[in-house]
Amino acid sequence: MHQFTPPPHAITHGSGPAWAVGDLLVHRVDETELPPPTGAWLLPDATSDVVDDAPWLRPDFATSDGALQLASHSFAIEADGLRVLVDTGIGNGKTRANPAWDHLDTPYLRRLTAAGFAPESVDLVILTHLHTDHVGWNTFERDGSWIPTFPHARYLVARAEWDYWAGVEMDEPRRQMFRDSVHPVRDAGLLDLVDVPAAGGEVAPGIRLRPTPGHTPGQVAVELHSGAHSAVITGDCVHHPVQLHRPAITSCVDIDPAQAIHSRRELLASLADTETLLLGSHFPPPTAGLVTAEGGTYRLRPVPGASS
Ligand SMILES: [Zn+2]
Repeated sequence: MHQFTPPPHAITHGSGPAWAVGDLLVHRVDETELPPPTGAWLLPDATSDVVDDAPWLRPDFATSDGALQLASHSFAIEADGLRVLVDTGIGNGKTRANPAWDHLDTPYLRRLTAAGFAPESVDLVILTHLHTDHVGWNTFERDGSWIPTFPHARYLVARAEWDYWAGVEMDEPRRQMFRDSVHPVRDAGLLDLVDVPAAGGEVAPGIRLRPTPGHTPGQVAVELHSGAHSAVITGDCVHHPVQLHRPAITSCVDIDPAQAIHSRRELLASLADTETLLLGSHFPPPTAGLVTAEGGTYRLRPVPGASS
């Protein structure tokens, strides 16, 4: 008799949860939880009184003392043979003004690989918008240079988003972010600017970009369709489930808060009482759910992913 020995390439650390959307499989790839003070800074109007008013937020989305919980992760999608990544987190080793994001060191790439998405196998990277916590793993550092992490992928950005940042005077931290995480992708010829019509546009079979401007001018949500099944990845149109209860709560980094509220209300109204799964780009576990209308507002009915 001999004992089973795992082969050397066996994955022992496991990967995150996954959701089936018809024939599509959506994996959540964790980068890091955001530190506890993030919620009060990001969504200052989401006070503990507001949280108390929506008991369904606890325990998954808020702590007992009313602090909002937030996370940084990507969604990795298997779509009819195409391997798609939606947003790339904060990244490792980057110089950032936010101390929680400065020179981060996480096993994100190992987790992505464990989910079945080795970097060289990724075909498409969709960036919902060009903020620091959505573009970080676009690149990694090798011999003092930042090089594209996904060398065989096309990186998609809405043209409206690109044009906005190209036309504003950026402060030094933002210039640094473009230098280390965006320009290397462009310079390698991997960047595609996409004209996204107001009604949304398909970028791959079953994958559509839907304009949800406000947080940034070119911010998009990502719609997934397969047969009768569908899902929407929020990007930063919705930062936290508390914004289902109070859609008018804006984030301190929204460029046009009124437009952000409008986009969020439209998105939530279109999802309410449907079978479309909402996947939150910063929602902590269980991260996904169905939107139901209740008492003139909305709530999230969590749909945990299966372990993959
Ligand atoms: Zn974000």
